Amino acid sequence: MPHSTKQQAYIGRFAPSPTGPVHFGTLVAAVGSYLQAKNNNGQWLLRMEDVDTTRKVEGADSGILRTLEAFGFEWDGPVIYQSTRTGQYEQALNQLIDQALVFPCLCSRKQLLASGSKVYPGTCRNRRLPEKNEHALRLAGQDINIRFDDRVMGQQSQNIRQQCGDFIIKRRDGLFAYQLAVVVDDALQGITEVVRGSDLLDSTARQIYLQQLLGYPTPDYCHLPLAVDATGNKISKSEGANRVDTKNRESLLLQALQFLGQQPPAELATGKIADIWSWAIAHWQADHIPATTVKPAE
Ligand code: GLU
Repeated sequence: MPHSTKQQAYIGRFAPSPTGPVHFGTLVAAVGSYLQAKNNNGQWLLRMEDVDTTRKVEGADSGILRTLEAFGFEWDGPVIYQSTRTGQYEQALNQLIDQALVFPCLCSRKQLLASGSKVYPGTCRNRRLPEKNEHALRLAGQDINIRFDDRVMGQQSQNIRQQCGDFIIKRRDGLFAYQLAVVVDDALQGITEVVRGSDLLDSTARQIYLQQLLGYPTPDYCHLPLAVDATGNKISKSEGANRVDTKNRESLLLQALQFLGQQPPAELATGKIADIWSWAIAHWQADHIPATTVKPAE
């Protein structure tokens, strides 16, 4: 028998929110997660994060899929839609309720703002379920330090109680919060590494905290530099900014590679999309990704 190192098979994912067309920042997250999966001979799963139905834009999901196809991305398995997974989120919520870590919160946004506190001030912490008034559900943030070593951003540490507080896991309008949905989906889809934009670096400790409470494994994390506009703000697809034009897919893919610290050879400037992908998959170096925010090339 050949020697086996018994390595766990790599499963990565790309999880866009269908709130608008693909912009350069989305492309960078797609390219980074895709190449990291392909370079590790792994799977790349696609998940539409439409749990927040109030932000969803009609047709944005199919627009994103068409754009990814036009760029030549190949995903594994069916696309998962969070809006169809309420049952799974409900189960996880019940697990947390059974641990007496969930409380109903009646505070209005105005009250919270007036408290001046950076994290939830704990106003409703002693309330118990059931609660007949309209309420959000918060998870009690315990005095626990969560540490993780991000592949790009390095050592990270957060104290849940002090830095995250009691955070919302189900909203007042009945929708599950992103933090809970993403943790359940990453676990049930068997994700081994999360590669995404560093705007979510600050959410990661909350997610690891949830994984620990739910008995899920913690994947590796790799937060990519954020693409910012000329004024230093995140390029956001809900603002419709910098929507990528698939007519320029070759040069956009090359720009995304450069943005991620890769050095495609000059002759690829006139290459076909398939040639750029084969080069990128073979030469991908995650340790060349810069740990800073970068402005995309004009
Ligand atoms: N849906 C999130 C976004 O589009 C990404 C969440 C994640 O990758 O964990 O910004």
